Amino acid sequence: MSELEIRQFECLGDNYGFLIHDPQSGETASIDTPDADKIQAEAKAAGWTITQIWNTHHHWDHAGGNEALKAATGARIVGPSYDVDRIPGIDFEVADGDIVELGQHAAKVIFTPGHTRGHICYFLPEAKIAFVGDTLFALGCGRLFEGTPAEMWTSLSRLAELPDETRVYCAHEYTQSNAAFALTVDPDNLDLQAYAEMVGAERARGEATVPTTIGAEKATNPFLRPFDAGIRKQLDMAGADDEDVFAEIRRRKDNF
Ligand code: ZN
Ligand code: FE
Repeated sequence: MSELEIRQFECLGDNYGFLIHDPQSGETASIDTPDADKIQAEAKAAGWTITQIWNTHHHWDHAGGNEALKAATGARIVGPSYDVDRIPGIDFEVADGDIVELGQHAAKVIFTPGHTRGHICYFLPEAKIAFVGDTLFALGCGRLFEGTPAEMWTSLSRLAELPDETRVYCAHEYTQSNAAFALTVDPDNLDLQAYAEMVGAERARGEATVPTTIGAEKATNPFLRPFDAGIRKQLDMAGADDEDVFAEIRRRKDNF
């Protein structure tokens, strides 16, 4: 099986577009469609033809280019069955545990409600890569527009079960502001301090902080660590349930 090639590029200011290409079959998938023109230009520059679109959720900065990109390329659109009424052009509806294929590469669908009620992620176990949309960010997580803290905590817990070395492709470059917030709830975490410093340097050089890894996020991302004694002490929530600590961290971030 040939190795997948990934092309990552900025769209709409702070979104990332991703193209994944399987040289063996010639198939290329666009993860979401933040900007149809930009995505097509990137595919052309790589010499790739887009054959599929894999949507994570219905927001315009993720599915807004579906119709234009499908019209231009004939790509087949894969999206969550739960949001078939809100995501234009879905050809293939998927739900938790379903498998999507790019050539011989399989991606497993993980249902991750919270940011929206139908959000899904795509995990490719052989390549150990995950496209997580607006569920998990480097040092952060998506806002709870349609789900409860308990739902989001369950969704993030499932992503945390992926192998530590999994490369995590988040849909936005939010890491530097996330780091500033994370340090307020977990100030004594040395791994977090080092990560925040690295992120500051990367952004100063104009570099992307995405992808991250599951292992790095488990060590530093407060939204994956509500059980941590240091965070609980900082929040004065020593005996609370994980989902209540998670909810408090999310509430504070909303007001940060
Ligand atoms: Zn979103
Ligand atoms: Fe988004």
